[in-house]
Amino acid sequence: MTATWIEAWAPADGAARVRDAFEARFGAAPDGVWSAPGRVNVIGEHTDYNGGLCLPIALPHRTYVALRRRRATDGQDDVIRLASAQEASAGVVTVRLSDVAPGTVPGWAAYAAGVAWALRQAGHPVGGFDAVVDSCVPYGAGLSSSAALECAVAVALDEVHDLGLAAHDSGRAALADMCIRAENEIAGAPTGGMDQSASLRCTAGHALLLDVRDGSTRHIPFDLAAHGLALLVVDTRAEHQLVDGQYAARRAMCEQAARALGVATLRDVADLPAALARLAGEFADQADVVARRVRHVVTEIARVEEVVRLLDADQVEQVGPVLTAAHVSLRDDYEVSCRELDLAVDSCLAAGALGGRMVGGGFGGSAVALVRSGDTGRVAAAVAAAFADAGLAAPAFVVATPAEAAGRTA
Ligand code: ADP
Ligand code: MG
Repeated sequence: MTATWIEAWAPADGAARVRDAFEARFGAAPDGVWSAPGRVNVIGEHTDYNGGLCLPIALPHRTYVALRRRRATDGQDDVIRLASAQEASAGVVTVRLSDVAPGTVPGWAAYAAGVAWALRQAGHPVGGFDAVVDSCVPYGAGLSSSAALECAVAVALDEVHDLGLAAHDSGRAALADMCIRAENEIAGAPTGGMDQSASLRCTAGHALLLDVRDGSTRHIPFDLAAHGLALLVVDTRAEHQLVDGQYAARRAMCEQAARALGVATLRDVADLPAALARLAGEFADQADVVARRVRHVVTEIARVEEVVRLLDADQVEQVGPVLTAAHVSLRDDYEVSCRELDLAVDSCLAAGALGGRMVGGGFGGSAVALVRSGDTGRVAAAVAAAFADAGLAAPAFVVATPAEAAGRTA
């Protein structure tokens, strides 16, 4: 069974694509081309909205934006015109920045216009612009095409308006907050913040240890190849309709549990058995579910610490079983896996992967597995065969190596 690989574009090729498309569409040269990566999270799932830890890497797969600030000579300088190769049927979407508000921008343009809105909300003097988007980040695969789009627009607007935020990490953290607002409030999609932080704050060759409680980060060297290993991503291509409602329900239950425990977030649970005993008395018929949700979050944060400890100690192979433990927790305690994700993980393990787990919100999207470098092709072929045997659509594969954050590309 041959596997389908999702190749990342060379940055110069991505830049040329959007620059050419921009000139054809708007009849002028853009001010520049910027790009931002998708991400895959090594470990720490459903922890970001609990003030916890996560450990994403930026993918070499990026979203490219050619952008031109509108000048006074363009007439209405408050106008935003947007086109995306991934949303060709939408053509050019035109909105006035002053009209952007929650619920006013339909479709994909909300992610881009929302960033300009959030910059304005934060007091930055942002005006209208024209932009063309193209991307090799797979859509809706849990690899964060949405954050890649937002963050590419954010660094573009930062530069054309001389804001200087992208020049330093604290400015990038501020841009990430604005991208989160764009996605939550204008696109209306719930997101906890890991994706935007990864896309703006990762560095090449490193995983980003992000502490969501205080926004602090540490760059952890993540050179799997030097250890004869690779991180294989399986895009299951599965999409279940449950995603948003289930995400909101998990989030709400975590907040309820934190309130019942008298802590700001589940990050602050120091004694898990004591917390579970206390919750059992508070939630009557839902006690078992609440306990399992809390146990996932608290043990998952501990697994992030364990993986960081193993990476720091160069015991990289031992990361595998921790990933598998995370999958079991996401599947059985948090209940956000699905048939395709379980099959992806199980067939990776059966083919010799050292460990693996579902990534992202769940109910579809992608899984990751830690495999020996020489095994990536064989493991991918085995997963593809298992999907074919099960009558499922063919999955697609990426070997994830940590790339750099959002920035100017051309
Ligand atoms: P993901 O896991 O890929 O982030 P999401 O559902 O969060 O999945 O985001 C996907 C949505 O983001 C798309 O439906 C679209 O609205 C928007 N989007 C992402 N990338 C692009 C792009 N290149 N062009 C236009 N819209 C995009
Ligand atoms: Mg997303």
